[in-house]
Amino acid sequence: MNIFSVFASSSYKPLVMSNFQPALTTTMDSLFHHSKDKVVVIMGATGSGKSKLAIDLATHFPPAEVVNSDKIQMYSGLDIATNKVTEEECRGVPHHLLGTFENPNMNFTASDFCKQASSAIGSIVKRDGLPIIAGGSNSFIDALVNHTPEFRFNYECCFLWVDVSLPVLHNSLSRRVDRMIDAGQVDEVRQFFLNAHHQSDYTRGIRRAIGVPEFDRFLRAEASGADERTKRKLLDTAIAELKVNNCNLASRQVQKIHRLYNMWKRSMHRLDPTEVLLKNGCCSPEEAEKVWEDHVFSKSRRIIQKFLYE
Ligand code: ATP
Repeated sequence: MNIFSVFASSSYKPLVMSNFQPALTTTMDSLFHHSKDKVVVIMGATGSGKSKLAIDLATHFPPAEVVNSDKIQMYSGLDIATNKVTEEECRGVPHHLLGTFENPNMNFTASDFCKQASSAIGSIVKRDGLPIIAGGSNSFIDALVNHTPEFRFNYECCFLWVDVSLPVLHNSLSRRVDRMIDAGQVDEVRQFFLNAHHQSDYTRGIRRAIGVPEFDRFLRAEASGADERTKRKLLDTAIAELKVNNCNLASRQVQKIHRLYNMWKRSMHRLDPTEVLLKNGCCSPEEAEKVWEDHVFSKSRRIIQKFLYE
């Protein structure tokens, strides 16, 4: 029971008589000094390694479950364009709020997030699990942690900031776009447009996703039978825009995290995966894993161990 349910309960009667004071003091003491449940929050720009860190930590501190805080990954569909973790990458770790929002035209709001994330976190805690919030929508994390009194009352957070050098991240994002194109992103967006989603309002719902509006001109030209040269040119332009937009998103996200860092620095820890991104694609998977262990994972494990048990 928390303070909100105590005050909301119809059986709660404030005790005012002086001889009841000790009982009142004890009740208030236990209300205000109750032990809070622990929540890990992983923040960072797109492409910095938040999802992998969440899954690795969940596997290391079982039982743990991940709560997605990327506003675009809440929607079902466009799995490649929105870069959702695959079932294989999840390695059996349950994920919440990932691809569960079915209406492509509606905005999933910060208030929707606060309600659904609180409910997921409550259910994880009931199962004696550790909730790990991970995702790039800092406005959602800000809303949950700073503007939801019940969350602040019930939970203590440890923030991990995956803070990579921006020029290195920008290069890595550009390579990630090439990999997403190779993995079938154009086909995925073409199918999305064919399924009656081809409207030009890119300010609402899942169509806000980076990787959707950029292909508008190319797909319209393709549908109207444009020649190969025109299509190639439009496709190259779309891919170039996609790279720039991803880099701009990363820069904006880092600015927002800097603002939150000023508020949360006592419980926020910075991790630097720059070396991991530099090695990405230039060494064997085993070596890549070793660099990840040395530069990110061993430090995060120590931080969470201390947060949970000391
Ligand atoms: P803002 O207030 O600017 O919306 P935010 O912190 O709430 O910021 P962000 O996660 O930074 O949310 O998302 C901002 C925009 O970035 C989204 O509207 C979308 O265009 C794009 N975006 C975010 N996540 C993704 C994703 N997974 N795939 C594609 N585009 C994304």
